[in-house]
Amino acid sequence: MTRIDDLPLRDELRGMSPYGAPQLDVPVRLNTNENPFPVPEALVRLIADRVSDAARTLNRYPDRDAVVLRTQLAGYLTRTTGYQVGPHQVWAANGSNEIIQQLLQAFGGPGRTAIGFDPSYSMHSLISRGTGTGWISGPRNEHFGIDREAAVAAIHEHRPEVVFVCSPNNPTGTAVEAETVLALYEAAQAARPERGALVVVDEAYAEFSHRPSLLPLIEGRPTLVLTRTMSKAFGAAGLRLGYLAADPAVVEAVLLVRLPYHLSAVTQATAHAALEFADTLLGYVDELKAERDRLVTELREIGCEVTESDANFVQFGRFEDPKDVWRRLLDHGVLVRDNGVPGRLRVSCGTREENDTFLDAVRAVMKEIS
Ligand code: PMP
Repeated sequence: MTRIDDLPLRDELRGMSPYGAPQLDVPVRLNTNENPFPVPEALVRLIADRVSDAARTLNRYPDRDAVVLRTQLAGYLTRTTGYQVGPHQVWAANGSNEIIQQLLQAFGGPGRTAIGFDPSYSMHSLISRGTGTGWISGPRNEHFGIDREAAVAAIHEHRPEVVFVCSPNNPTGTAVEAETVLALYEAAQAARPERGALVVVDEAYAEFSHRPSLLPLIEGRPTLVLTRTMSKAFGAAGLRLGYLAADPAVVEAVLLVRLPYHLSAVTQATAHAALEFADTLLGYVDELKAERDRLVTELREIGCEVTESDANFVQFGRFEDPKDVWRRLLDHGVLVRDNGVPGRLRVSCGTREENDTFLDAVRAVMKEIS
């Protein structure tokens, strides 16, 4: 039997594990920050109609530059943030992971480095490694926020070509202040005076935040990129549609590395339909935000230490042995996530009933371990 180590694999991939949370068949799955609400029936029917239309021309390649979809996404951003963006400032791909990969292919790569502030979304470092980009793990403070001075110092020290700022941050749920993003942007440009550095603001969870989007910060800042996804707020993780907003020059750069026809006609048709239902879907987001706030309050009442959350998940602890608590919650039929943050676990916000089951399970486990 051939083992992976026997293959002529790139050295930096040796010993790595693929990204992925356990996909277990459990009654209450609150481990991957999905939206718990299924796609509404009326949208299911619209998607079916649109996909039927697309099927009639599947002998042809899809719109390579997804112009109609990008126009719709630009409209959605403009409408929901009040900041005007046009289709030439928006780019779409198969999930925001692919967007991040394309950005690193264009702006990272061998001999270059990217920095993020950990704990944060682990795919930033994994995609960096996968694209041959060096990775630097920057610091966070004890409240899981970005320590502005320490972060600026790390940027001056390492002079990265790419800076990742995740807001609201996964897995901690914490949002980043606009002033902090600006300080990091300025530090990154000062550290690389020739052509500056790319600052990627990952807003995968923006719609769930108590704060306004950081989108307006792209104004006059040609290397500030905002990434978004339809996986969370649109309840469409299975669709695989992510996008970015930035200076049109960044979109031009990404075009150099994207695979031709990367977004299938089926994906584009489905995303069109989902965007037409944005108002309905954002109604679910409001429900989830209220549920998220309830989870924070009730977990604190139970006696947990809970990190403030601007996302559709909540980080809670503090446990001597989070792995043991994770396993016990699983025994009560609830799957949460152990992201390896010391003493902490993360729960995605589910439906009211799922959250009740989760909270009951936490109460039971707290008794078991006390
Ligand atoms: N960014 C962050 C912070 C995430 O948590 C996720 C999904 N877990 C993504 C990006 C990727 O999302 P997708 O590829 O589904 O758009």
